[in-house]
Amino acid sequence: MKTEVFYEEDRMRIALIPEDDDNLVPSEKYRMFQREFSVSLPEGVKDIHPDLVALATMLVVNPFVGNRLVPPLKVSSRFQIAANSVLSRYKISDYVDPLLSPREQPSTSIPMLAFSGGVDSTAALSVMPKNTVSVFMDRPLKGKSLYNPQAAHLAVESLKEIGYVSESVQCDLEYVRHPVGFPTDLSNGVPALLLADYFNASSIAFGTVLESAYGIGHERYRDYPIGAHYTFYSTLFNAVGLHLSLPMAGVSEVGTAMIVEKSPIGFVAQSCIRGTMNNPCLKCWKCFRKATLGRALDLDSGSSATISSLLSREVKSKLLAYPISHENVVAFSMRRYPREEIDADDSRILDGLLERVKGISDLAFLTRWYKPSQILVHSSWREDFTHKILEFLEVMPPKETSEIESWSMASYLADPSTVSAHDQLEELFDEP
Ligand SMILES: [Zn+2]
Repeated sequence: MKTEVFYEEDRMRIALIPEDDDNLVPSEKYRMFQREFSVSLPEGVKDIHPDLVALATMLVVNPFVGNRLVPPLKVSSRFQIAANSVLSRYKISDYVDPLLSPREQPSTSIPMLAFSGGVDSTAALSVMPKNTVSVFMDRPLKGKSLYNPQAAHLAVESLKEIGYVSESVQCDLEYVRHPVGFPTDLSNGVPALLLADYFNASSIAFGTVLESAYGIGHERYRDYPIGAHYTFYSTLFNAVGLHLSLPMAGVSEVGTAMIVEKSPIGFVAQSCIRGTMNNPCLKCWKCFRKATLGRALDLDSGSSATISSLLSREVKSKLLAYPISHENVVAFSMRRYPREEIDADDSRILDGLLERVKGISDLAFLTRWYKPSQILVHSSWREDFTHKILEFLEVMPPKETSEIESWSMASYLADPSTVSAHDQLEELFDEP
């Protein structure tokens, strides 16, 4: 894949030019669509380091590249060597400027955050230093879409009013993929990455939670900090002088809901990207998880929606997945759901779901912090972070830490009674 960069007034545009060996349909789930992406840069941002531009481009085109990637600008030798040390399917071509100094990590402690306006990144910001620069990637609307960025825009404005440095940056990289979405796990960090020099940042944080990092709620535990995913991305970020920080990696989705409930900036969070501020759609999978979790934790900010009213076609298909995505969170919520106030319909659905997840352990540990994850926070603000997180959550005792490290759903998913509970749930959902 060849790439080129163009600066047009306040916009940076990256053209993506596929070559014969590129793979424009890397999976049956998505394919390459738009052959360029652009980013509106805030005033005063120019001369972005070529290595930052190259990494931003990689976070967009990575799934589609065949044998080689020609970066938009000549990169430093150090960046090329570092990137090629972790790239296997393809390599960064020899488009190198031997005289270009790589971006050194500033000795300042200025963290950035790829901020989505949702619960997880708001929880992350709640435990990060006050000088954190949060950057929201604002997808321009094209054609018909359920996506509504209004709540996120308000979140960015509210944070500014409270004294945070907070930016909203228009970027259409999600259209490089069809169906529309992030081409890689960290694509939403592209605007922050391009502003890293402008803000003199030494780390970039993401709101990644325990479930995604360590595999809790998935089939089995993975030792994330030494695993392939973190090694790959942290090597690339280190090559441009940025630590890849994941302050929520030791906090479950249950914990992020608890942090946001107590945090002074918690009011800005909305996980639903379809509804408007304080008016979530109550039909999407995120709304189902958030509303049922809110009831389970008895949060003031919780919704009073009944379980049956939340069961859209999308939610039913998610609950019938095997395993269910975030199965631990669903199990946690159903076990603690207040039974007193529910009607007969909800009672049957609740029973069906409880039967489906009954093989999972108690899960009380989801309300606490998995401390070994602190290694995923940059040393310059780790101490401040551990102090702040303890204002919201307790630390997991050793017994729960080992529960995390031995997490496996394999035998429980293979158990015939779990399979039959899944089939019964399917029948229940099929009833008119
Ligand atoms: Zn929703």
